[in-house]
Amino acid sequence: SRMDESLPICLYTADIGEEIQARVELEKAMTGALERNEFQLCYQPQVEASSGKIIGAEALLRWHSPDLGPIGPETFIPVAEQSGLINSLGEFVLRKACDDLKLMKEAGLEHIRIAVNLSPLQFANMSLADDIAEILKSSHIEPSRLELEVTESTLMRNMNTAVEAMMNIKKHGMSLAIDDFGTGYSSLKHLQLFPLDCLKIDKCFTRDIEDKSSLEITLSVIDLAKRLNLRIIAEGVETDAQAKFFRLHRCDELQGYLFSKPIPAQALIELMKEQAEV
Ligand code: C2E
Ligand code: CA
Ligand code: CA
Ligand code: CA
Repeated sequence: SRMDESLPICLYTADIGEEIQARVELEKAMTGALERNEFQLCYQPQVEASSGKIIGAEALLRWHSPDLGPIGPETFIPVAEQSGLINSLGEFVLRKACDDLKLMKEAGLEHIRIAVNLSPLQFANMSLADDIAEILKSSHIEPSRLELEVTESTLMRNMNTAVEAMMNIKKHGMSLAIDDFGTGYSSLKHLQLFPLDCLKIDKCFTRDIEDKSSLEITLSVIDLAKRLNLRIIAEGVETDAQAKFFRLHRCDELQGYLFSKPIPAQALIELMKEQAEV
């Protein structure tokens, strides 16, 4: 009957309704959250594969909403993108990362490199590179200490302006990494056009390294990156076997829970100081 046919549609609508409701709630909680200092930046160490020494770290946003509790970036970044908050949030991240780089420099850790994620909207802003260069200059930080991570899908989304935006970043001497590589659709031709310094192998390949097909893909990605003279960072390294694999195949850096979870800046500084002592 008609009743029966409409039932699933009603349920479906209810689900979407719930989703919208959740979004609205998130957006509401995010309004003013930056001003209330609810966002924090953590750092996940990136270790040199050959020595195990921390040589860099990726800045990762954390949000603890007093009303909703801790919420992951995978949930709130897309909402921030849609509400426009991403611009001020992105600026907060860049400023904080530069402040922390300065702290590290003052603690005698001058050689650390900090990587910051850029959202698609930030990347599409043509004055971004100039703005970042300003921040670096005012904090007296060598531009090469900052690496900007752009995902493969962000690059493919803005193909016509992507190369120009990347050239601007390179012009100022910052480092450029392609993130989540292997999950999008860029071709060898695209990769050759992009002025990249570094390629990050997505954690889904690391996770499935025991699979024959995943193994073959990972090996060809490593080979491709080497041919293009890119530094390679393997992400999501959780086990000794995975670390061993990437060392064997001469990846430059490793990042993952095996070494450390993302931690506050001060904890990172302590960790690096400890390493410097041994
Ligand atoms: P991503 O850039 O791919 O960051 C790596 C994610 O993998 C992080 O999740 C990190 O905590 C997680 N991870 C690290 N090691 C391991 C491991 O060994 N195993 C597993 N399973 N996961 C690991 P997180 O912090 O939840 O961030 C998720 C995503 O949110 C990031 O993915 C990035 O796309 C985005 N994000 C985080 N912070 C920012 C930011 O400041 N700006 C922008 N635009 N995006 C951000
Ligand atoms: Ca990243
Ligand atoms: Ca990644
Ligand atoms: Ca990701």
